[in-house]
Amino acid sequence: MSLDHVPAPNVYDAEPIPAAARAEIDRLLLSGDLFRYTAPADAPVALLEREFADLMGTRYALAVSSCSAALFLSLEALGLPKGAKVMIPAFTFAAVPSSIVHAGMQPVLCEVGENYRIDVDDFRAKLPDVDTVIISHMRGHTSDMDAVMAACDAAGVPVIEDAAHSLGTTWSGRKIGTIGRVGCFSFQSYKLVNAGEGGIMVTDDADLVARAVIMSGAYEHNWKKHGEDADLTSAFTRWQNKLPLYNLRMQNLSAAVIRPQLPEVARRVRDGRANHDYVADRLNTSPWLRVPDALPQEDRAPDSIQFNLHDFDSDAQVRTFAEAAAARGVKVQVFGLSTDNARAFWNWQFIPGDLPDLPRTRAMLMRACDVRLPARLQTPDLDYIADALIAAAHEAKARAAA
Ligand SMILES: *Cc1c(COP(=O)(O)O)cnc(C)c1O
Repeated sequence: MSLDHVPAPNVYDAEPIPAAARAEIDRLLLSGDLFRYTAPADAPVALLEREFADLMGTRYALAVSSCSAALFLSLEALGLPKGAKVMIPAFTFAAVPSSIVHAGMQPVLCEVGENYRIDVDDFRAKLPDVDTVIISHMRGHTSDMDAVMAACDAAGVPVIEDAAHSLGTTWSGRKIGTIGRVGCFSFQSYKLVNAGEGGIMVTDDADLVARAVIMSGAYEHNWKKHGEDADLTSAFTRWQNKLPLYNLRMQNLSAAVIRPQLPEVARRVRDGRANHDYVADRLNTSPWLRVPDALPQEDRAPDSIQFNLHDFDSDAQVRTFAEAAAARGVKVQVFGLSTDNARAFWNWQFIPGDLPDLPRTRAMLMRACDVRLPARLQTPDLDYIADALIAAAHEAKARAAA
């Protein structure tokens, strides 16, 4: 198929925010009621927390300024000492080790395999030396949560799920973000629900959420606006005046943008998964492109696609591929090859101490490609992207052979 006269699909524009948000935003602007704790009850942020907890099937939710803030508060709320060791996958976004450094703790990096998921052997080997773990389901790829939970439960190590990019993913039918002690989600614009910025944590643990609520900035008795539950009230009473206030709250305008998107989640998940699987099947017809399978327990909710370049024996060939795709209008990010990439662990030089070498993760990052694939794309867009990637791989290999 000729690509010459068809414009490349725009993969950057977001979906419009549902119209229902506008009336609520107007109401908030007219009243100036933007702070979550001004109204005596039912502020938009409080309603969002109830709706999100219902959606996830958890007892509690706490909305905050970002997923990074939710991760930081989760670490603080676990009550770990300064210097505690926190294991994370070595393939994640720089904000994750940053949240650990922010909490005065030490990130410990775990190897990640060619399928972008935690290397369970390396995870088990490092587990005895750490105090907690954050499982980043990077780009929505779910690590083996059966193996992770079995190992962590046996060792008495709490699990924080970084589900920033995994809203709508399930593992053996359970919602990702509800398997560990606490799960954290992002509403930053590149995630499934777009508020520009924002995050939320979910848990069934009253003591943990009470600590997080206070530290998020529920000063004095504002915690009373987080529900009437007896477990919560006794936890709040226990922690009153004993915790620092970091002021990482969400404001009402963000909740007004998020709430009307929650009913859209199921459709976005369905369309995103169909789009991803369609392009994955097409890419896998190329001898040079490999989309790793989902784990059998996993039902994904992708809004992008990751694949590995197979049999590319030099970085120059990889660059030729990326240039050939760009010439066709499709931008490919190779995680390990772009300068200063925030997902390449060797760029996390803010971590105290020497950065370990992680040869498996490094090898993966040098061949793993990332292409945006928003749920709103239609079949001709998907064909355009798949054709461009397949042709670019052929061109790169043909030039290498010449
Ligand atoms: C986006 C993302 C984050 C950070 O979320 P923010 O809301 O921007 O702080 C953390 N982890 C993963 C896996 C992400 O995709």
